[in-house]
Amino acid sequence: MKPTARRVGGVEVVPGTHQVVRLPVTTRLDGSLLTIACHVVRGAADGPTLAIVGTLHGSQWSSIEAIRRVVLGLEPNKVKGTVLAVPVANPIAFERNSRMTPDDSDLPDLNRVFPGGTTWITEQMAAVITAEVLEGADALINYHTGVWGSCLATVDHLGGITEPSLAASTARLAVAYGYPSIRSLGSFASNTYPGPSAIGAWSATARGIPSIAPNVGGSGFAPEVEEDWNASNVRGLRNLMAHLGMTDGQVELPPRILSSRGRGHRIVPRGAGMLEPLVGVDRLLGPVRRDELLARIVNPHTFEVTEELRSPSEGFLFGVARWHPVWPGDWAYFVADSADPRTRWLESAGTVDATAERLLALDEGRA
Ligand SMILES: [Zn+2]
Repeated sequence: MKPTARRVGGVEVVPGTHQVVRLPVTTRLDGSLLTIACHVVRGAADGPTLAIVGTLHGSQWSSIEAIRRVVLGLEPNKVKGTVLAVPVANPIAFERNSRMTPDDSDLPDLNRVFPGGTTWITEQMAAVITAEVLEGADALINYHTGVWGSCLATVDHLGGITEPSLAASTARLAVAYGYPSIRSLGSFASNTYPGPSAIGAWSATARGIPSIAPNVGGSGFAPEVEEDWNASNVRGLRNLMAHLGMTDGQVELPPRILSSRGRGHRIVPRGAGMLEPLVGVDRLLGPVRRDELLARIVNPHTFEVTEELRSPSEGFLFGVARWHPVWPGDWAYFVADSADPRTRWLESAGTVDATAERLLALDEGRA
């Protein structure tokens, strides 16, 4: 069957082309039209639709570079299916380098309002993304990387999905990304973090769309460290397209994957100050001892040490911070607790499907 044009935001994107469509949202007070840019790569042959959404939180912008490299590196004539890529889902928050839309509304967090609504700016942005990007998607990737000064190192998926085929397709996406750390949030169809109105949770529960959130990287670190994260995310997106049959590429799997479950321990400052790290990026995915000193919080005015951040358990680090000023509650360190039997290194089974089955068995307590 000959593929047809893909209609996005009222624009017909013909097979074998890449077009940037500006999705209109609403009018801003400066008189300009608020739009969200969506890259539509319409392959020359039919196939699945992959939705890629970055910068839902405006301060978590480091996935833009990997999305750019992958989208610009695609040859639309060789792609089967369609890529819908939104590098900056919340342009207003991004402009201010803030997590949320800086407006005076009670719904400013774009990743808590899906499928959106007709009132607040953030709801309107979600409604546009839902209608133009999520409806008709076969898989969703949404990025949440570290804000400046912090980083994360897990590919998150919802976990606890009761529908077997959705559970399997979701676990396969997580494995196919090819990153050596996967966290199950264990929160499918529940009100726990990140809640039912997060983009991934809504897409899964309301539309049956498998999704993952590769939380790989951050900003403010050495260029070679950040380049390594970019390379991981580029490989991940290319892996996923190969896994979904959209390209002829091969999926590259790591020999083993650190599996964990739930939010883990968030070791964050209770008071503001300068975070002085004792543990840095070289320790990511490595072991940590119970009570190990991870960082000190120093008063930048008096130079007093006001707080010590210590690991509450033995486990593995999947988020660390660099020297930078922090506010109370800012992301600093994340530890997967080794006391949880689901925190463990899982050997790759060679293929995506077999490894995903191992991952699910562990997550569901069958292993
Ligand atoms: Zn986020």
